[in-house]
Amino acid sequence: MYEYLVVGAGFAGATMAERLACELGARVLLIDRRSHLAGNAYDPLNEHGIRIHRYGPHIFHTNSQRVVAYLSRFTAWRPYEHRVLARVRGALVPIPINGVTLARLFGVPPDEQAAATFLAARAESIERVQSSEDAILAKVGRELYELFFRGYTRKQWGLDPSELDASVCGRIPTRVDGDCRYFTDAFQAMPRDGFEALFLALVSDPRIDLALGCDYRTIAGRERFNHVIFTGPVDEYFDERFGKLPYRSLHFEFETLDRPRLQEVAVINEPDEAVPYTRTTEFKHLTGQEHPKTTIVREYPRSAGDPYYPIPSPECRALYQKYAALAAKERHVTFVGRLAEYRYYNMDQVVASALAAFEELAKARV
Ligand code: FAD
Ligand code: UDP
Repeated sequence: MYEYLVVGAGFAGATMAERLACELGARVLLIDRRSHLAGNAYDPLNEHGIRIHRYGPHIFHTNSQRVVAYLSRFTAWRPYEHRVLARVRGALVPIPINGVTLARLFGVPPDEQAAATFLAARAESIERVQSSEDAILAKVGRELYELFFRGYTRKQWGLDPSELDASVCGRIPTRVDGDCRYFTDAFQAMPRDGFEALFLALVSDPRIDLALGCDYRTIAGRERFNHVIFTGPVDEYFDERFGKLPYRSLHFEFETLDRPRLQEVAVINEPDEAVPYTRTTEFKHLTGQEHPKTTIVREYPRSAGDPYYPIPSPECRALYQKYAALAAKERHVTFVGRLAEYRYYNMDQVVASALAAFEELAKARV
């Protein structure tokens, strides 16, 4: 009855289902073991009527015109530029480290030359930047590394920055100007009516049937499909044959306060290792919602629990490569998405990866 089975209704699965149904005219069964669409971007209203992000703050930003054009067919946008403060030495200062941060912490004069000279005098010369520790020491030196990165990263990943790929802390730039935005991408906006509404539009084609609360295991082998798109954890697909791939998880602690606003910006980071959580997010900054109350969430990193973050370390990548080799041999299955490709993808990168995977499939079909 269905040509395609798509496992997982997050960005990867919903994009694939939409393309297969609308571009190829195929019948698609889209399943998710959770009771809702949108994967980790799920953003329901809570019991107070405040829109929250159930799996942590999701901010959309991209430099891909193609991804913006694609998603804009399913949502209008609300402009939003993300700003984050870090609690350092008892003060709240902007992160990424920039001219304003250096002026507040060290009294560096607020001009680009002064900030550049200050950082250059502290940056360590490192011949081959391999780890996240190297990446930060090479840019800002040890004091700023310890103030902003070491503790946060050890909490977030349960690993020292010296054990993580340079790309992890390398996600955070250093600036000498006074630009306090977290991202500098050309397109920064939130779906106007939220992520769930975007997903409802994405999967609205009548050729897509949606089955929520449905695990792949319950239908694998029972029904036949020409092709399967798998967006869950790749090690789980292969029954963890080579051992479990490590993922980092989070425990989310939500709180609703009887006041309209709590913090000056959406997110406050806590780099101090003595504080057990990494950051506090106030959702109304992200959604623009007006409400007399406000909801916040604190994130407590964990090793056990839902798989949220693939771990970018040399050991984990080596184990993933063994699964990737098996995946390449599964001719009737396409693996796409953050968990299936074991890549620390942002949402826009997942959409781009799904669009590329669809094109490969479409080519093979003709
Ligand atoms: P997912 O969203 O994880 O979807 C996979 C789906 O597959 C899940 O719903 C799961 O239930 C389902 N599934 C798995 N196995 C099975 C099975 N056997 N049977 C049925 N269903 C199954 N990105 C950004 O761009 N900006 C951000 O600000 C941002 N913040 C983030 C904050 C946090 C705390 C986290 C964890 C991630 C964040 N991301 C952010 C990344 C973003 O969540 C991902 O890039 C994106 O959601 C991945 O989409 P996906 O479809 O690959 O995976
Ligand atoms: N990071 C840090 N201190 C900060 C912010 C980030 O050490 O104040 C490091 C940390 O290792 C984190 C990584 O940089 O995991 C990437 O940060 P980002 O905000 O992109 O993380 P995400 O939003 O994906 O959790």
